[in-house]
Amino acid sequence: MTDLDIIIIGSGPAGLSAAITAKVRKKNILLLGQKDLSTKLVKAQKINNFPGFPGISGKDLEHAFEEHLNQMEIEITEARAAKIYDMSGTFAVQCGQQMYQAPAIILATGMITQKTFPGEDELLGKGVSYCATCDAALYPGKTAAVISYSKNEEHEAEFLAEYADKVYYIPMYDGAAFNNEKIEVVNEKPLEMVGTDSLEFLKTDSSELKVDGVFVLRESIAPDYLFPGIEMDGHHVKVDIHMTTSVPGIFACGDIAGLPYQYIKAAGEGNIAALSAVSYLDSLKKEK
Ligand SMILES: Cc1cc2nc3c(=O)[nH]c(=O)nc-3n(C[C@H](O)[C@H](O)[C@H](O)COP(=O)(O)OP(=O)(O)OC[C@H]3O[C@@H](n4cnc5c(N)ncnc54)[C@H](O)[C@@H]3O)c2cc1C
Repeated sequence: MTDLDIIIIGSGPAGLSAAITAKVRKKNILLLGQKDLSTKLVKAQKINNFPGFPGISGKDLEHAFEEHLNQMEIEITEARAAKIYDMSGTFAVQCGQQMYQAPAIILATGMITQKTFPGEDELLGKGVSYCATCDAALYPGKTAAVISYSKNEEHEAEFLAEYADKVYYIPMYDGAAFNNEKIEVVNEKPLEMVGTDSLEFLKTDSSELKVDGVFVLRESIAPDYLFPGIEMDGHHVKVDIHMTTSVPGIFACGDIAGLPYQYIKAAGEGNIAALSAVSYLDSLKKEK
């Protein structure tokens, strides 16, 4: 892969718009997300406030976006960013066992719709994790559970099983299957993560699973977990009108950057974030 200029995390209207503008400005981009773009997009029955498309369905708007991406030869890399690391002058983004680097990042990850489980926030980093690739090595010979919202995460459980003796895989979707004797699919409803100083067990609707770690793999990850220390405003990343965050080189747009949650606002902010990232890259060049 040629040197990247910008990594865009998220394939909803904000991330797509950022990708389109960055491509118009001839930047080398990596667009991370999902092939069917955004669950929030395809779920909308009728959209009445997207200019040029009165009454369009979310599915049809998705097709229009796909057509636009194809015409501009923009590809989506189907991967979930699990961590962003500051490498002094560049950022490294970890996706499973893959690492990508670029001097600018655009966060367009949308808002997390699922509520956290009781005990999850308190035990985060004390047995609860959002990234098997980052933390699997902490579990040699141990027992762990994976609560997964997507089939795409099954490889994370496989990787965890290279370290752990036993992995309970709790799918929040239908059709999970493994050919790995260390992984047991548990079709129970997770209810609570229990422990005081560290995780002791995972309570489900029908059992208590004694585990050393629980990995919660949702479609979206809180931005202050992705990049610890980024300034937040409640659940949103704090941005200015240029979509600049508190971290030079990291920009944010769309739902993650604040209310109102609207397609056109997300797309507009994606455009601004990309232009700001381009200016930032120019300023880096001038410094050299
Ligand atoms: C049912 C429904 C109907 C709606 N109707 C309307 C409407 O009529 N009009 C309107 O203006 N708005 C509507 N909205 C709101 C609109 O959907 C959101 O405002 C919009 O989708 C926000 O776009 P976004 O790009 O910020 O985030 P999202 O659309 O949420 O996209 C975020 C993307 O980022 C990906 N992602 C997240 N984390 C990561 C990660 N770590 N690595 C890689 N990818 C990641 C996700 O998988 C997702 O694809 C509706 C929402 C819903 C749920």
